[in-house]
Amino acid sequence: MEYKYCPMCTTPLVLAVDPFDDRERATCPGCGWIHRPAHPIGVLAVLEHEGGIVLTHPLGDGYAALPGLFVDRGETVESGIARAVREQTGLEIAVLADIARFTQPGTPLGTAVIVGVRAHSIGGSLLTRGSDGEVGLYARDALPEIIPVRAANLRVMAAWLEG
Ligand SMILES: [Zn+2]
Repeated sequence: MEYKYCPMCTTPLVLAVDPFDDRERATCPGCGWIHRPAHPIGVLAVLEHEGGIVLTHPLGDGYAALPGLFVDRGETVESGIARAVREQTGLEIAVLADIARFTQPGTPLGTAVIVGVRAHSIGGSLLTRGSDGEVGLYARDALPEIIPVRAANLRVMAAWLEG
């Protein structure tokens, strides 16, 4: 249980059966609020630009990462990944296709639903350094290694390479 008190009326929460699906959840005996946690949604883009792929280097070493983020409240998958790419690489994109969707445990926000997209630059100008570190443009046959612990990055990149 993550919440001890109701975020709506501050009454201490109790465990009770949720009539929606008969599973036990933290429930407010005062106002009826039920804690139904949802997985965050992460989006990662394989970003095609000028015949290559744009990657970031968030750790400041040789390892690379895909541009991406966890979708914010009020954002769609598409607007979220467009924002991530803009902030992290300077480019504006068109999303061409969804290439992966899976549930990934162990992300910085816990278990998350990950959407991998293939995107193409349609404007902006490539930064040398963005909000996620240095930015690099690489040929498909000369891609740097993805940060090994970033399992979702690896899965999305594998889906793109197979596609
Ligand atoms: Zn309440």
